[in-house]
Amino acid sequence: MNFSSSLIEEAVNQLSKFPGVGKKSALRMVLHILKQKPEDAIKLANAIEMVSTQIKYCKKCHNVSDGDLCAICTSQKRNNQIICVVEDLRDVMAIENTSQFNGLYHVLGGVISPINGIGPDELNIDSLVIRLEAEVSAELIIALSATPEGDTTTFYLSKKLAHLPIQISTISRGIAIGGELEYADEITLGRSIVSRVPYAR
Ligand SMILES: [Zn+2]
Repeated sequence: MNFSSSLIEEAVNQLSKFPGVGKKSALRMVLHILKQKPEDAIKLANAIEMVSTQIKYCKKCHNVSDGDLCAICTSQKRNNQIICVVEDLRDVMAIENTSQFNGLYHVLGGVISPINGIGPDELNIDSLVIRLEAEVSAELIIALSATPEGDTTTFYLSKKLAHLPIQISTISRGIAIGGELEYADEITLGRSIVSRVPYAR
């Protein structure tokens, strides 16, 4: 792609780093920005800067948060006896949208994936063990994607938590095998949490 402006070229290069955005889409975005008022573009730039520099992670569950603890962990209305383990904050949002879960979360920050160089130490697993050792919880629902990496992580967690008197469940596989949690529709995902099954260990 030939650009007659190095400013446009740089903007296209930066925007095309987003997942699923190629150079053509990035150029469309840049042209859209050019049509906007400067103050709108500055709002966008500020929002990107704020999310990159100001966002915090809950010290307890690692969900995104405005303070030390997130709104879910501090809510009096949540059942603190059930903790749902998920891969990332998209899954928290997807499960919250089902309105079928009233417990707490623990965000791993990914799944074990040797091919991508992600081992247990790169994930929020130790903090989960410490959390469950410190606070008695009745049930842990492991809600990871039905992929080999998700299954490996579920198996690893069940072994890592074997010394704790806690019921471990996995979401029922109304979710297609190989399916990513975030792509499941709300009704299917909600049902898969309600009809969760004990994890055989
Ligand atoms: Zn939290």
